[in-house]
Amino acid sequence: MTSPASLPLTGLYDSHMHTPLCGHAVGHPREYAQAALDAGLAGVTFTDHIPMPAWYDAPWRMQQGELEQYVDMVQEAQAEFAGRLHVGLGLEADFHPGTERYVEEVLAAHPWDYVIGSVHYIGAWGFDNPEFVDEYERRDLGQLYRHYYALVEGAARSGLFDAVGHLDLPKKFGHHDPGTAVALRALDTVAALGLSLDYNTAGERKPVAEAYPSPALLDAAAARGIGLVLGSDAHQPAEVGYHFAPAAERILLAGGRLVQYAGRVRRG
Ligand code: ZN
Ligand code: FE
Ligand code: FE
Ligand code: ZN
Repeated sequence: MTSPASLPLTGLYDSHMHTPLCGHAVGHPREYAQAALDAGLAGVTFTDHIPMPAWYDAPWRMQQGELEQYVDMVQEAQAEFAGRLHVGLGLEADFHPGTERYVEEVLAAHPWDYVIGSVHYIGAWGFDNPEFVDEYERRDLGQLYRHYYALVEGAARSGLFDAVGHLDLPKKFGHHDPGTAVALRALDTVAALGLSLDYNTAGERKPVAEAYPSPALLDAAAARGIGLVLGSDAHQPAEVGYHFAPAAERILLAGGRLVQYAGRVRRG
């Protein structure tokens, strides 16, 4: 067996990665870009965690005053790798009801290539934070997923985002959705509104050991014609292109369509 890491990833883009500005990632953007080039990728898009209102989870994201620095850093990498690697400027935005206008202002401030809409909170609970994993024991999983996918549909309907981030994220620590009905309804909404899905290999590094979305939801997304945007969700340069060769193969076998974004326009 050839190790997936040694396969050339020629032509692929990694459209989900972070920078140290979010406070929980390491490595300068130039190191992420170099890692992508070394892996044979054709391009990367930085999608660091968007600034949010001050009362939101400040330790987990760049502050509003750091946005210019973020844009400058990514544009420097863009210039440095010009002609060798496409470098895009994006954001991973949070969808949290009530913050839409704030997000809209940030999105209007710079020429973004790609904006992911992610749900990281159910109410005040950061359900993907390992510190708060005990909370799952107090929740009914069916209800949790109903609530979660209602938020995902809200993200899709908000019109703010190009793609939905890590679709089935509440499974991160192994708490799988007991059914598929609410997930499939969310995919219907995503398809109807023309959004894409972040095909996020970070799940393979987590206890669930499975990409977001699951194989069954990948099939359902492909059947609905939903575009899939490959992303490693790298928080360090070594994670760029993580498990991309098997991921790309899985997507193609499912009949899925790989896409990426530039200037917030879908390509591919
Ligand atoms: Zn992060
Ligand atoms: Fe996320
Ligand atoms: Fe991310
Ligand atoms: Zn993410």
